[in-house]
Amino acid sequence: MKVAIMGAGIGGLALAQGLLKAGVDVKVFERDPSPRHRNQGYRIHISPVGEEALAAVLPDAVRRRVIATATRPGDLVAGFDAQLNVQFEQEFPVAGPDAVTSVDRYAFRRALMTGLDDVLEFGKQFESYVETPDGVEISFADGTSAVADVLVGADGVGSRVRGHLLPEHEVVDIGVRCIYGKVPLTKAVRSIAPPAFLRGFCFASDGAGTGVAFGPVVFREPPTEYGDYLMAVLTGTNEVLGASDDELFTMSRADLWDIVTRSVASWHPAIRSLIDAGQVDAAFPITLRTCIEVPSWSSERVTLLGDAVHPMTPAAGAGANTALWDAARLTKALTSGEDLASYQQDVITNGQAVVTESLHNAERLFRVSIPV
Ligand SMILES: Cc1cc2nc3c(=O)[nH]c(=O)nc-3n(C[C@H](O)[C@H](O)[C@H](O)COP(=O)(O)OP(=O)(O)OC[C@H]3O[C@@H](n4cnc5c(N)ncnc54)[C@H](O)[C@@H]3O)c2cc1C
Repeated sequence: MKVAIMGAGIGGLALAQGLLKAGVDVKVFERDPSPRHRNQGYRIHISPVGEEALAAVLPDAVRRRVIATATRPGDLVAGFDAQLNVQFEQEFPVAGPDAVTSVDRYAFRRALMTGLDDVLEFGKQFESYVETPDGVEISFADGTSAVADVLVGADGVGSRVRGHLLPEHEVVDIGVRCIYGKVPLTKAVRSIAPPAFLRGFCFASDGAGTGVAFGPVVFREPPTEYGDYLMAVLTGTNEVLGASDDELFTMSRADLWDIVTRSVASWHPAIRSLIDAGQVDAAFPITLRTCIEVPSWSSERVTLLGDAVHPMTPAAGAGANTALWDAARLTKALTSGEDLASYQQDVITNGQAVVTESLHNAERLFRVSIPV
């Protein structure tokens, strides 16, 4: 059996590792020209669900790379008001030396690419497919094509594969924008950062729709390109951020970071100092999108995983973990001769539960009403 995976994101790479380990003929096609293209580095929380999926699909050498390049586990999740008064706090035991509890997306993807040199092609943008009696013919934007027995759309929230398979399926904009940024963890920054911000994920909010999330990325083994940082993410509606989408998605990184600086101008001095120390050229905006209902589909040869089938807000910290769960489940289906319909049913059931949780969390966290 020949499997073609569109998208070398978190789910696509995990699936490729699982299939390769089982001896399946697999190829991954990624539209980006290289793994470093675009802003790939931000913190992703890995839950026990994600960890279990990684353990199931990764060969030992790849798993060791993932562990080595993961971040050091924290021991706290906390919420604050804008003046740093604690609103909630949850401590937990520090995980062991082999635990993977959070990763930097760039370092994680690089680790997941270990051993995939002959399998992974960059600069291959999926364009369309045609199902034939013998398989699937796939066309790329560069005019080339490929054939496979099974095509997997692992091409993220804007999935073009889903666009072909389920043209009616709707992905909803929840009206929240984020400006992502990094504060390099220099000695000076470590000394001004509230201790909780260095212990785990923290969210500060002014109670009027502006929030800033902080998450430490302290590597066991940093990538060559950069070192430890504190992820800092501003969230709010266009109105709260004072910028339309046309402005937000065309302005310079310096102007984006100015919005973050302005938004916390009356906040606690420690938060202001951290934002002042931000790495301006690392700022980027994103739109939070979700599906409301995970769709079903009926093809025997074309399937989906991860954000391509169940995009969700980051409010449950579960998008990547669910993509990993899907990858492990699909590896099992494709290597045991199971039919794809039972994989699809499980993805719908599991994905819907997580999407619903993420919608509830988003309404509380971002103070928005989502049209369910
Ligand atoms: C800033 C941020 C923070 C997040 N934090 C967390 C977190 O803490 N925990 C968590 O679980 N999740 C988190 N998420 C969500 C998580 O990153 C996604 O849910 C996860 O990456 C989905 O994996 P995926 O493999 O489905 O898609 P992706 O990782 O998005 O990969 C899709 C890949 O497909 C490629 N592609 C797209 N179109 C094409 C095409 N036409 N042809 C070929 N290739 C294509 C893309 O370039 C990309 O490489 C976060 C997301 C963001 C944006």
